[in-house]
Amino acid sequence: MIPAQFEYKSASSVQEALSMLGENDKILGGGHSLIPAMKLRLNMPEALIDISKIEKLKEITDNEATITIGAGATHASIAAHKALKNHAPMIAEAAGMIGDIQVRNRGTIGGSIAHADPSADWPAVLLAADAKIVIANATGSREVDVDQFFQGFYTTALEDNEIITAIRIPKSAANANSCYEKFVQPASRFAIVGCAAAVEKNGDSVSSARIAFSGVSDAPYRAKEVETALKGGDLSEEHLDMACAGVTSDVSVMSDHFASEKYRAHLATVYAKRALRRL
Ligand SMILES: Cc1cc2nc3c(=O)[nH]c(=O)nc-3n(C[C@H](O)[C@H](O)[C@H](O)COP(=O)(O)OP(=O)(O)OC[C@H]3O[C@@H](n4cnc5c(N)ncnc54)[C@H](O)[C@@H]3O)c2cc1C
Repeated sequence: MIPAQFEYKSASSVQEALSMLGENDKILGGGHSLIPAMKLRLNMPEALIDISKIEKLKEITDNEATITIGAGATHASIAAHKALKNHAPMIAEAAGMIGDIQVRNRGTIGGSIAHADPSADWPAVLLAADAKIVIANATGSREVDVDQFFQGFYTTALEDNEIITAIRIPKSAANANSCYEKFVQPASRFAIVGCAAAVEKNGDSVSSARIAFSGVSDAPYRAKEVETALKGGDLSEEHLDMACAGVTSDVSVMSDHFASEKYRAHLATVYAKRALRRL
């Protein structure tokens, strides 16, 4: 459990980090996914470029219509942030459910989404929140819709020579609400099934919905059939039974020693209804 030899470089700005980043190097955020992978020699970078001392990347800014979370913000700082609690409650709630206090104090939102573990919480939550991912590279910066960012098993739209700098979260409208529910792996607290739900209502009737899952398939996904079925109806038990029948209809469900395919699919329905009942 000792990593292969590597060089350590600490960057004081994103520009400096980009200029240091060589072909076989890796960005170091909180190190809570990368260091274990290096100890198992699944990852053997020539150099680690540490971005954890770049204060700007840790900022959480309340703008008029959005809240911008720096990629280096820890899960704990996101869970505690007042504007997020008020204007994007699902974000603060999900952050507080990640791992344990040590993981939340070191792990960062940017590191989590760059890593894109299929059982991580942020991917489902950011899909339901309709987030934008801000990415810096040598020629400037680009913004990617979350729907295009997660592309498969541990795969994202991020290129090797790029750094995630921020995540933009739209503030909830007055008629909207969101929440996150997960069935946890008891040791790590990763999601065996995590369901993030965001709905807008017109009176009792759902006018739009974004429902996303982590842990169910080999990549996070939005259950678009459920989103369509929810529209125009209320959140009564009868309507939820009908709408949530299709939670896994577009994906192939994972099976492992924590949960069989059948059990996971069942949990996905249970946790979708649990989240939607709260809204
Ligand atoms: C015991 C334990 C329990 C955990 N439980 C949970 C849980 O319940 N839910 C959950 O979602 N996660 C969980 N995690 C994962 C944790 O949240 C990690 O911190 C997170 O996945 C990675 O974030 P990091 O900042 O530590 O990234 P690192 O480990 O530093 O990096 C991960 C990857 O992202 C890259 N990277 C990092 N930052 C950036 C950036 N800004 N731009 C581009 N690339 C970048 C790195 O090069 C690396 O490839 C757990 C981890 C541990 C060790």
